[in-house]
Amino acid sequence: MAKEHKYVYTFGAGKAEGDASMRNLLGGKGANLAEMCNIGLPVPAGFTLSTDVCTYYYANDRTYPKELKKQVDAALEHVEKIMGAEFGSPKNPLLVSCRSGARESMPGMMDTVLNIGLNEKTLEALASQSQNERFAWDSYRRFVQMYGDVVLDMKPKDKRDADPFEKILEEVKHKAKVQYDSELSVDQLKDVVVQFKKMVKEHTGKDFPTEPMEQVWGAIGAVFGSWMNDRAVVYRRQYNIPHEWGTATNVQAMVFGNLGNDCATGVGLTRDGALGLPGFNGDYLVNAQGEDVVAGIRTPKRIEIELPKEMPEAFKQLDNIGKTLERHYKDVQDIEFTIQRGKVWMLQTRNAKRTGFAAVRIAVDLVNEGMITEQEALQKRRIPADDLNQLLQPIFDPKAKKASQAQGKLLAKGIAAGPGAATGQICFHASDAEALHEKDPKVDLILVRRETSPEDLRGMRIAKGILTAFGGASSHAALVSRQMGKVCIVGCGTLDIDYHKETLVVSGKTLKPGDWISIDGFSGEVYEGKVPTKPSEVVEVLLTKTKKPEESETFQRYAQLMTWVDKHRKLRVRTNADQPDQAATALSFGAEGIGLCRTEHMFFEHLDEIREMIVADTRESREKALAKLLPFQRDDFAGLFREMKGRPVTIRLLDPPLHEFLSEHHLQEQPDLAQKLAKSLGVSKETIARRVEELKEMNPMLGHRGCRLGIVYPEITAMQARAIFEAACLVKKEGVEVHPEVMIPLAGFLSEYKNQEAIVRAQADAVFKEKGTRIDYLVGTMIEVPRAAIVADQIAQAAEFFSFGTNDLTQTTLGMSRDDYGGFIGYYQEHDIIGSDPFQTIDKDGVGALMKIGVERGRKSRENLKIGICGEHGGDPATVYFCHEIGLDYVSCSPFRVAIARLAAAQAALAK
Ligand code: PEP
Ligand code: MG
Repeated sequence: MAKEHKYVYTFGAGKAEGDASMRNLLGGKGANLAEMCNIGLPVPAGFTLSTDVCTYYYANDRTYPKELKKQVDAALEHVEKIMGAEFGSPKNPLLVSCRSGARESMPGMMDTVLNIGLNEKTLEALASQSQNERFAWDSYRRFVQMYGDVVLDMKPKDKRDADPFEKILEEVKHKAKVQYDSELSVDQLKDVVVQFKKMVKEHTGKDFPTEPMEQVWGAIGAVFGSWMNDRAVVYRRQYNIPHEWGTATNVQAMVFGNLGNDCATGVGLTRDGALGLPGFNGDYLVNAQGEDVVAGIRTPKRIEIELPKEMPEAFKQLDNIGKTLERHYKDVQDIEFTIQRGKVWMLQTRNAKRTGFAAVRIAVDLVNEGMITEQEALQKRRIPADDLNQLLQPIFDPKAKKASQAQGKLLAKGIAAGPGAATGQICFHASDAEALHEKDPKVDLILVRRETSPEDLRGMRIAKGILTAFGGASSHAALVSRQMGKVCIVGCGTLDIDYHKETLVVSGKTLKPGDWISIDGFSGEVYEGKVPTKPSEVVEVLLTKTKKPEESETFQRYAQLMTWVDKHRKLRVRTNADQPDQAATALSFGAEGIGLCRTEHMFFEHLDEIREMIVADTRESREKALAKLLPFQRDDFAGLFREMKGRPVTIRLLDPPLHEFLSEHHLQEQPDLAQKLAKSLGVSKETIARRVEELKEMNPMLGHRGCRLGIVYPEITAMQARAIFEAACLVKKEGVEVHPEVMIPLAGFLSEYKNQEAIVRAQADAVFKEKGTRIDYLVGTMIEVPRAAIVADQIAQAAEFFSFGTNDLTQTTLGMSRDDYGGFIGYYQEHDIIGSDPFQTIDKDGVGALMKIGVERGRKSRENLKIGICGEHGGDPATVYFCHEIGLDYVSCSPFRVAIARLAAAQAALAK
């Protein structure tokens, strides 16, 4: 006969059937209770129903496997033996708790029931055993209330409604003229229980269950059922926890923190979770049960301040347990405990959740204390790479944010696109921002737009933050903000912006220019008014130089961590930068080159000349306009080369559709523009209008852009190539090494690539000849349409490097516009159609598969082909791991994400 499937695992008396490695099966709580037993810590005996039960339960119409009952009975017997008590006995009753515990902790999302096994008979025994009738009735009162709320589903459905049990309790307390339930007498507690039970009968039509086995199965069902409650589902979605995992359920002998004043219950951390300061800390309540601490009924006391005075012996036990746990788990622990008559019992331990600040401090401190290795310090579970951001950006003071929320000042939530915290006055137009800035360079502005376009660039630079109603994670607003290190929220669909009325209507409020708002680029939240911020010390040392390294411990730890990062990573990290100041920022965060310079961003400083080039309809007049642009481009490139001091600089040739520089929309917005252009070109206003009309496209993103521009207008490519090589020769002459890498955008055919390459190389030869010098350079291409990935072997015959442009590659592979997906991606995510935003994290199965093909085929033709990524995904840790796996040479990301990408690269390298 096949062996029976094991669903239940016991623990207690220094022995357990499970251990910490079994968290997938036993959940975090179950696995760690078992582990604590195994290492000899005081844990009340119990057993865990595995996550297999949960998966069975949901796959089989909320029923249990047939073997389960027998296994639970046997486990309960085991617990009875260890505890020397009997479940349901009227003489010597065992009481148990029933708690959820999933693989990843989901704090407060699922249910718990305490004091199971109480009825009026067992209660009497409990009263006489403890010689404390009040305690017995208090426990029973709690049990009926919790069971009613959780198992009988009497919890209020709307958060504005009061818990019906609390209402009764309040009335009794009011009548008794007491503040706390601990002050109620036995008779008053009895009265509470009578009223509770009456309400249960009214609500459910049945008497409150008195049979202990019925109670325990009711509680087990409620805990498994709570895996699918709304809160838990939403939480899992937010943290990418698969619904299929299921929860385990732990049934454990009760120990009591409410037996008297030598008893307590509490939660604590072995180090501080906000800043990582060493030392046990937490909250406890004397003469109370677990839920009181969390429920906030009485204000708890601080463990580190009061407990050593109030219960010195218990504090010593707790502190020792904390140290044992830290040494054993090699990490900060978050624990739950009960003190029963002076003895500490452990109810839970888990690796503590922490902020990015605390994560770095704790990891570095643990290495310095000799507890972990530097490789362990870099594990992504210790410092999620994204959390490093918190060290770099000003942040909102969390307390202030909570207060704003409580005051109803949270206005909206969008896609968090540029991390950080910004507070400023609303400004709807880039030109207004410029004017205001001119008057007062210190003005704090938030540029609020339906969307941004390249023309808003100057306004964006001035603004403290950018907020848009439309667009997604690789929209113009998002990528420019990240590059500039600006706080940014995009796709905030509930904003109703009226440029003409100059109003922003949101959440029933109408805001005007000059009104203050605060935007949180970590969470996507928009607040009304000013929420106070705190600056980043790391930025003060590295960038603004307003602090010296020795003045900032935070910086010192960051620096120590980053030396380990660089030792272990294989991927190189470059930056997307178009200007020397952006390059300088990136360098201070450790960038090793420029992976993408978008030359069109430079053009926006010279709109008159570029517009002249666009409206020119002969080659000669186009070349005349281009000749005006050449010196500007040369200066810009020279600036970048100087700043990068010999590191590789990838410069991409002109990419966007020309209408971004000149369209009907521009002519309408600037009534004198057509006349101005007509005059400088010596043509009529009508000619200008006609040319603009010709430029109009139905799908500009799939239209005349990328290398298609340089192919049809080779003089554009020639001018840009010339500017690059002239700048390179100039800077080389100044004694600075230069390594330009010229990149062709949007090529899908080898012939497209070759056409452009020929122009670039011809210009290089010509310039080198003129200047009497040579420069090492590469010519390569972006891989940003599916065809390019598929024919990568052909393209690599000529191209010396590839860079995956995953913004366009995602857009073209998914057939999903990078500018328009904001309208439905929220719905998609809420309904589990797509897990993560494909424009933020690479869609591994689709876009990722194409990248893999591109790498394999490209390197088949050219073994040493250098390959990188320069789409916005390059700064996303999950994407960085993927890029490491498929063997890229480097990732390139916005300056403020460079350190994060470095850490993610080290984590990827250490993952195995
Ligand atoms: C890309 O498509 O990924 C890319 C980097 O180019 P752009 O975002 O400028 O189109
Ligand atoms: Mg692109």
